[in-house]
Amino acid sequence: MIYKKSPEELVIMRKAGVMVSDTLLRLQEALRPGVTTRHLDAIAESAIVSSGGKPSFKGYKGFPGSICSSPNNVIVHGIPSDHVLQEGDVVSLDVGAFYQGLHADSAWTFPVGAISDDAERLLEAGERSLDAAIEQCYPGRRLGDVGHAVEQVAIQAGFSVVREYVGHGVGRALHEDPQIPNYGPPGRREILGAGMTLAIEPMINAGGAATKALDDGWTVVTADGGLSAHFEHTVAITEEGHEVLTRRDSS
Ligand code: MG
Ligand code: MG
Repeated sequence: MIYKKSPEELVIMRKAGVMVSDTLLRLQEALRPGVTTRHLDAIAESAIVSSGGKPSFKGYKGFPGSICSSPNNVIVHGIPSDHVLQEGDVVSLDVGAFYQGLHADSAWTFPVGAISDDAERLLEAGERSLDAAIEQCYPGRRLGDVGHAVEQVAIQAGFSVVREYVGHGVGRALHEDPQIPNYGPPGRREILGAGMTLAIEPMINAGGAATKALDDGWTVVTADGGLSAHFEHTVAITEEGHEVLTRRDSS
């Protein structure tokens, strides 16, 4: 069942959204060749805790980190570790904050130093696919319109869309109904309505769409070893359209 949020709940989710977006800004500032993903995890945890929230992911089904850090061929759910990021890498940083009973969730794939033109094109397409999905977020549109918009951008740019992992409703729980695939026909599935809060998160691969889960039980990589990009915002459907709750002014 899709749980629509009250105006009072949206006030809280807006604050959780600011915690997440501020944390992503801090991570972006700290990101450089030579930094470990564990160091980024520590920065994120202290940023969220010092602003009065809790990292949504820490302990979620036993997840050990406060963020997910997913470099290069890692699609999602990478565990922060002593892995050292290198010049030319791309890394998806996924952040969730829990505040006064509600979650917000956002991810961004950042370049580490200078990256290849191909990697640049992948990130650009991933970001554009998220923008296209958010453009569909109006009352009366359907969930299928959202996924279709992502798929169109990705395919036209020559990339593929991950199918095994999807976006989701977010709020009282980190993952609520509905599931939000990044593909499929428009004009189908649930009708969007004011009060819905959706974590829309395209995962776009440079090569094939196939995924592989590693033995650590979390890390998901591309089956062909190609690069992957991941962009996510928490979006509230409003009477007039939508409000992005995790927008960063400088992005
Ligand atoms: Mg996320
Ligand atoms: Mg999510």
